Amino acid sequence: MQIQTTGHIANGLYVTGSAGVPVYLLDGPSPVLFDAGMTVLAQCYVNDIRAVLGTRSPAYLFLTHAHFDHVGAAGFFKNVWPDMQVVASAPGRDILSRPGAIALIRTLNAESVQMAKDEGLTPLNDAPFESVAIDDVADQGSCFELGAGTVIQALHCPGHTRDFMCYWIASKKILIASEAVGCDDGTGYIQPEFLVDYDCYMANLTQLARLDADILCPGHKMVVTGDDARDHMRRSADYAHRFLAMVETFLTEADGDIDAATAKVKASEWDPRPWPKQPEHAYLLNTRQRVLKTWNRMQFLQENAPGRTRAM
Ligand SMILES: [Zn+2]
Repeated sequence: MQIQTTGHIANGLYVTGSAGVPVYLLDGPSPVLFDAGMTVLAQCYVNDIRAVLGTRSPAYLFLTHAHFDHVGAAGFFKNVWPDMQVVASAPGRDILSRPGAIALIRTLNAESVQMAKDEGLTPLNDAPFESVAIDDVADQGSCFELGAGTVIQALHCPGHTRDFMCYWIASKKILIASEAVGCDDGTGYIQPEFLVDYDCYMANLTQLARLDADILCPGHKMVVTGDDARDHMRRSADYAHRFLAMVETFLTEADGDIDAATAKVKASEWDPRPWPKQPEHAYLLNTRQRVLKTWNRMQFLQENAPGRTRAM
């Protein structure tokens, strides 16, 4: 099943705030949050989380990666629940302490206010993004015990961003994959998310598919369950493969001009997509990166092609 609304999904897992830019809540003896969405929606998340937890506080906030629409409300949450431990990878912690990164996250969040208004979401938070101190670092395989047999296992999946962590809850077969898998834009098209390394992204998809999650939580738009979760994993790989081929064609036609190829990708992928969708500035930043990484990969494969003789 594809679930495109907020509320209870199954096994104590909730989507809060907005299905488009969700914060996931897993309730239990020690409730936990995954990701912190956008700054403008901070109060929407808090209201939905409080509706479930009442006066209880989340024990942890697990961050998947330090993109503006995944850490936006982290500082706001820490003010609401000061005892909550914020967890990220070591590279994620470093990004969230860098002034340049914080300024970019603040700008991209400010640019998203109008989109939230257009969607009619309330109440909106007008305050700018505030960064957050990371209390605990997750490495590959780190486990966090929540009691009642629930363990959160962190998995380093650096194909989307270098700091990327997925979170796997084996006893509930829930995978917080975020953008380690593609995001269905609501039309059935799955946007590939490899910003760092296509081959690593594909290898991560293979590893994550082996977990055989029953409840798959991508970064945006929907939660997918059962056979649809398995299908989403397969289609993520399929669309990434096709996307790579398309970008390679555009790059060849443009003689390696990254900006020209990026404009063609945007015309084919983003322009026809109905609103609400990823804001244009954030889309272009990410897409230029996907195109650049594809070009670097093409160059590498050409230089290392079998039979090629190198000048001595
Ligand atoms: Zn991202």
